[in-house]
Amino acid sequence: METKAANKIQDLQYFGEFGGVNPSISDSSTYTFLAAKSMMDTFEGQAKGCYLYARHSSPSNLYLSEALAAMEGTETANVAASGMGAITSTLLQLCSANDHIVCSRTIYGGTYAFLKNFAPKFNITTSFVAITNLKAVEAAITKKTKVLYCESVSNPLLEVADIISLSKLAKKYNLTLVVDNTFSPLSITPKLLGADIVIHSLTKYINGTSDTVAGVVCASTTFIESLKNVNDGASMLLGPVMDSMRSASVLKNMRTLHIRIKKHSENALYLAQKFEQNGLRVLYPGLKSHPQNALYKSMYNTEFGFGGMLAFDAGSLEKADALMELMQENKLGYLAVSLGFYKTLFNAPGTGTSSEIPEDEQAAMGLTAGLIRFSIGLDNDIERTYRAMKKCLVKVGLL
Ligand SMILES: *Cc1c(COP(=O)(O)O)cnc(C)c1O
Repeated sequence: METKAANKIQDLQYFGEFGGVNPSISDSSTYTFLAAKSMMDTFEGQAKGCYLYARHSSPSNLYLSEALAAMEGTETANVAASGMGAITSTLLQLCSANDHIVCSRTIYGGTYAFLKNFAPKFNITTSFVAITNLKAVEAAITKKTKVLYCESVSNPLLEVADIISLSKLAKKYNLTLVVDNTFSPLSITPKLLGADIVIHSLTKYINGTSDTVAGVVCASTTFIESLKNVNDGASMLLGPVMDSMRSASVLKNMRTLHIRIKKHSENALYLAQKFEQNGLRVLYPGLKSHPQNALYKSMYNTEFGFGGMLAFDAGSLEKADALMELMQENKLGYLAVSLGFYKTLFNAPGTGTSSEIPEDEQAAMGLTAGLIRFSIGLDNDIERTYRAMKKCLVKVGLL
């Protein structure tokens, strides 16, 4: 599937106040009105193009939101102070007390904790299912279900969700399909495949410099307006608002996203193939051995590849730890969580982050204690990186 999302972003040409090539940063929390009546109309949501107060909207946040909506092919978007701010306000907007959510069991730890431990305070309950098992997904839907929630490519096993089939299920049962696309910006465009709402943690690839947390909800104008409604909008009332300075900075970084994603994907595919040839058990959606390789290929925007995330099994937690320390000493990357940085990041998610899955199933899925998750960086010479990584693998006895 082809999309020209990257072109659409490029065509968004903003002018700054003094003809600057970047839009001016709106350094204000509140905005003046020349006529008292227009203030009243803005409060009531009738005056378009007027700013009232920055928790509601600000020019800088609208510029970034517009670029993200162009990327995801949605009518509009709303940026947030973090990915979790985007996720929680969306789910609380969609669900009321006694509603139910069907959610993939392999999701970001914070999202899992919110649904498992926090949302039940409001009597919003969740069934966690194997998202690749469509029968299990359908069986978990009840009369109370309002939302179907998944990640396009999930953590840490890089399972790929069949968004087209999930969207058919969502339509059949009148659910809202929410897809967290943090791992695969530009590569996968969930809206084109039938998703209703697309969320990102901008903290990762889209910002790409590991210097801030930020998030976005890409959706219809109706939904985004409901989120920002001054009377009952979750985003307006819970207040996870992004600061204008940050939003300007994220927008500038986003200008190079298409180049970065291609390089992350190219580097990750190279290493995944090499490690697999070396006999390691590698998880990467671009490998034929990946269970959803064909599915990913049926959904992706070819030029952006299979993404920068890969994982392999180091056999045991001890070996994984030794390897990661050695790689860090050799300047191959950082032993750190998160993803999307110019430098490779690695950590061992272990069994801890996926404790909702019974142990035997974890083993069956390939979720082992020695699994190392990599966010492959933008290394200029990936063959040189591979040679250095191979030395580390040999040293800890993996090769
Ligand atoms: C990091 C992450 C989040 C949370 O985003 P923050 O910006 O840290 O709040 C949500 N989903 C996924 C897939 C993530 O990787």
